[in-house]
Amino acid sequence: MTEPRHFDLHYGGRWQKPLSAERMDVRSPATGALLATVPVAGPADVEAAAQAAQDAFDGGWARMDALDRARPLRALADLLRARMGELAELESAVTGRPIREMRAQMGRIPEWIEYFAAIAIGLEAESNHVKGGFVTMTAYEPHGVCALLTPWNHPVLILVKKLAAALAAGNCVLVKPSELAPVSPLVLADWAIEAGLPPGTINVVTGAGATGALTCDAAPVRRIDLTGGTRTGRIVAARAGERLIPCTLELGGKTPVLVFADAALDEAVAGAAFAAFVAAGQTCVSASRFLVQRPIYDEFCDRLAAKADAIRLGDPADPATDMGPVISAGARARCLDFIEKAKAAGSRLIAGGTPPDLPAPFDAGHYLRPTIFADVAPDSHLFQEEAFGPVISITPFETEEEGLRLANDSAFALGAAVWTRDVARAHRLTRSIRAGVLWVNDHHKNDPRSIWGGFDASGWGKENGWDALRSYLRKRSIVIRTASQYDDWFAGKGRYG
Ligand code: NAD
Repeated sequence: MTEPRHFDLHYGGRWQKPLSAERMDVRSPATGALLATVPVAGPADVEAAAQAAQDAFDGGWARMDALDRARPLRALADLLRARMGELAELESAVTGRPIREMRAQMGRIPEWIEYFAAIAIGLEAESNHVKGGFVTMTAYEPHGVCALLTPWNHPVLILVKKLAAALAAGNCVLVKPSELAPVSPLVLADWAIEAGLPPGTINVVTGAGATGALTCDAAPVRRIDLTGGTRTGRIVAARAGERLIPCTLELGGKTPVLVFADAALDEAVAGAAFAAFVAAGQTCVSASRFLVQRPIYDEFCDRLAAKADAIRLGDPADPATDMGPVISAGARARCLDFIEKAKAAGSRLIAGGTPPDLPAPFDAGHYLRPTIFADVAPDSHLFQEEAFGPVISITPFETEEEGLRLANDSAFALGAAVWTRDVARAHRLTRSIRAGVLWVNDHHKNDPRSIWGGFDASGWGKENGWDALRSYLRKRSIVIRTASQYDDWFAGKGRYG
């Protein structure tokens, strides 16, 4: 993006002039340059966009056969595949994530759409002949208009995970992307029309938390799906509770990684650097609490620190760049505060800790060197709170029981990983670590077929898989009498229940 672009809202199948006069800037986290401006949608904008979604739902999308819905969805997948390079550049410019990362991620986006379009065709309901002469049938139906509230760290991936399941199930969506990265969701809504999705199936309103709150409150909205921070999750869940509409909450994390003395150390160190510092540590499952068994503790710390020091920070558009900035000045200030608190708590800084020295214009970006603290106490701020940036902790443990206890010492329960060559231990631990997504000898790997979601302070509900498709459907029970005669209860016949 060379010249700043000034976007309108996108709903009802086209760009729409906002009714609210307020706008907000979208700036490059790498340089501070203005990339775009977007409207701050107010009540009338959100109402109009929600109505456009309701009209599309009533207008036929919900009643179409899954086979017919699959065609435009597959066309959208094809279009995204063809424009993968453009999409990756957009994502990289707005999020500051290196182009190499975004090319890899964008390359897989169409799979989510193809997957949900396909399994929706395969959705089968059940039917039973039951006692007393009845056939009972189950039937699925979409909820209606679904509000999708998304974060900035994977603007397209997280949106598409939700949107593909919602649309394949016959819902229409009202999207409120993050105020920090609203550009690609707007562009995607426009491309969806080009691909043949009916107007009003995807509607995007931009703005910050206040617009998100309006979205949750919009009368047509029948279901909410949020990926965001735990604080936002509590607010959105309360609102959904007030309205008695279902919601899914994909929230924060504090992912533990257990490294045992029997692990392949080269792989564990390489895996640790990837787990912690890809996306500059800004994913909900970024490895942030390393628990390392005592016999390899010192060597692991030394080797991971050297690996972190070798990570190249710089221009996100350069394919040689390993790590970009964090998303905002506020995000970097929060990370620096974690660093100060960790030092004050007596943890040992073994890598990073300061912003790098970069040439202009990147000296104005929100960069922070990959930062590692060793000897971190389990009751410390760094061990317990989500930094959402490249600041990680390492803590030693002696026995499997102690490692497990430390892994579970968290309010969050989203991701976890175990590095070991002992198959039995891997099985034991993946059954007893409190987390919704677990890896053995790897990290971050994700697939449309592999369910995704956490527990406790990390939220509830699942993305991916049949679970996600079914969560976008309501299931009903239909009971049909097959017995030839009705049993008149007040004439002394029949069964109750
Ligand atoms: P955030 O909670 O600040 O914002 C998420 C979305 O909610 C944004 O669109 C925001 O505008 C909106 N929002 C904020 N306040 C709202 C309100 N009161 N009502 C309705 N909507 C509101 O999160 P973020 O900073 O964009 O993303 C980072 C967080 O997301 C981290 O905590 C991270 O762990 C989490 N995350 C979780 C997952 C997962 O799969 N569990 C994936 C990615 C990110």
